[in-house]
Amino acid sequence: MAILKIGKMIMGSLFKKPATLMYPVIPRQWQEKTRGHIEVVMADCILCGICARKCPTDAITVAKDARTWTIQRMQCVQCSCCVEVCPKKCLTNKNEYTAPDTRKIVDSYEKPADPPAAEAGRA
Ligand code: SF4
Ligand code: SF4
Repeated sequence: MAILKIGKMIMGSLFKKPATLMYPVIPRQWQEKTRGHIEVVMADCILCGICARKCPTDAITVAKDARTWTIQRMQCVQCSCCVEVCPKKCLTNKNEYTAPDTRKIVDSYEKPADPPAAEAGRA
């Protein structure tokens, strides 16, 4: 009886869709709302540092003098706290994960220089 049961199960499995993905041959499709990694739009960032102060893992560093926004990717837990508190809404939590690495990945972005005052007044 057991053999019949197993045989039936094997035959059934032959015609079913596989339960697993053929990763990495077929790349994983993440859900739209998956919290993968933080992205910043530096043109909109005012370097206020609120995101860095609210980050529970101290993953963000904002250097006003150097005009840089830096994130330690392996320290970020994708909680989205920085995204919620940013007054300029220039942070987003994208749905792709940071690729695994043996190094502690640190990404730093520089804010573009402000346009000269006269040009800014015309815009
Ligand atoms: S909270 Fe937003 S505007 Fe302020 S430093 Fe962070 S990313 Fe820039
Ligand atoms: S998502 Fe959370 S842990 Fe990651 S940088 Fe933002 S506040 Fe910090």
